[in-house]
Amino acid sequence: MAQLSDDCFAFGGPMMSVDEAVAIIATRVSAVDEIEAVPLEKADGRILAGDISASLPLPPFTNSAVDGYAVRSSDLPLREEAAFPVSGRIQAGASAGEPVKPGHAARIFTGAPMPEGADTVFMQEDVRVDAAGKVVVPAGLRPGANVRPVGEDIQLGAAALGAGLRLRPQDIALAAAFGLTQIDVRRRIRVAVFSTGNELVSPGDPRQSAQLYDSNRFMLMAMLARLGCEVRDLGILRDDRGALAQGLKKAAGTNDLILTSGGVSTGEEDHVKAAVEDVGTLVLWRMAIKPGRPVAMGIIGGTPFIGLPGNPVASFVTFVHVVRPTVLALSGAQPLPLIPMPVRAAFTYKKKIARREYVRVSLHKMDDGRLEATKFPREGAGLLSSLVDTDGLVELGEEITQVAPGQTVGFLSYASLM
Ligand code: AMP
Ligand code: MG
Repeated sequence: MAQLSDDCFAFGGPMMSVDEAVAIIATRVSAVDEIEAVPLEKADGRILAGDISASLPLPPFTNSAVDGYAVRSSDLPLREEAAFPVSGRIQAGASAGEPVKPGHAARIFTGAPMPEGADTVFMQEDVRVDAAGKVVVPAGLRPGANVRPVGEDIQLGAAALGAGLRLRPQDIALAAAFGLTQIDVRRRIRVAVFSTGNELVSPGDPRQSAQLYDSNRFMLMAMLARLGCEVRDLGILRDDRGALAQGLKKAAGTNDLILTSGGVSTGEEDHVKAAVEDVGTLVLWRMAIKPGRPVAMGIIGGTPFIGLPGNPVASFVTFVHVVRPTVLALSGAQPLPLIPMPVRAAFTYKKKIARREYVRVSLHKMDDGRLEATKFPREGAGLLSSLVDTDGLVELGEEITQVAPGQTVGFLSYASLM
């Protein structure tokens, strides 16, 4: 396991910007170092452990890009059409056969190797075959047309996939194209997830009138799974300092990250902070972000701890800015910056300067083809429906103080966040 120092999350100032939080995490959290080889079909979403360079040029041999007729470029007619006798027929997967003689053409199909001598292919749609069986080709074709030269895509030895890449289907395709059967990736990080609060019960358990079903744990576990974590569900801990401390300590030895929600505000019944201090070190990150509350950051026996606020929307937003970068860093992934896409605001909004705010919005395609973002009508940080009935978050930077309808704003889709 990655062992982090007790002062890993130390921070001096009173307020922390989102960018500062992300930078601290990226520079101070180190990756797990175990590496495992996974077959291609299990590699999606895994973090590439080392650089992969091209062990084969792509394409591996020069081939035809079309079904047609291969000729020598020195024979290409410049002004008038010309007829070539056809000798040879090369299918995909077959060997290139005899060289094409001057003044001749070879029938060739897409993906078939170019025969020696030939370097240009006429598309079959552009030619005709005359009564004598010769292929009649038009004048003016560019030498080298319709041919895919060896290495045109990637040259032998070229850098292809970089360490820390979160593998996508197309990356796996590239590894397969080199003939690899497995890929070295970092092991999945193990994340323990607790909820805290006497008012919570698990779905399936009997609920008293003043209790509610624990929803954060299932949201957070699903987000972690999407980020490639091996998730451990450690249930609900009561608002009890001793029980919390015990639960946290136990989880620290066998996990790479401990994540809780609830119990980190300043109320008397918020015992998570004290419990972390009993078994490790703790700092509160007061982040300049809305929705959001202070996030508790700690180290318990070398294992990082993150305590998210209990309100579902605050939990969700702080997950994105604190847990997501931590998970990526522990997993050995390159940081994946969130890139908001420009959309047109269909709402009015006022905000405090020097604070990053996120507005839950739905997107609509307008008659002029542009996307417009409509704000969810209510703002409470406890409203799960506000996350369910929207498509993503509009990010309003620290410097912004108001938004007027028609203004361009940056949109982050929920799918891009995990
Ligand atoms: P806390 O941060 O513990 O003060 O909780 C803030 C609010 O979030 C309270 O109304 C809690 O009931 C609610 N809450 C805390 N944890 C959860 C959870 N796991 N699922 C749903 N709501 C929660
Ligand atoms: Mg609570």
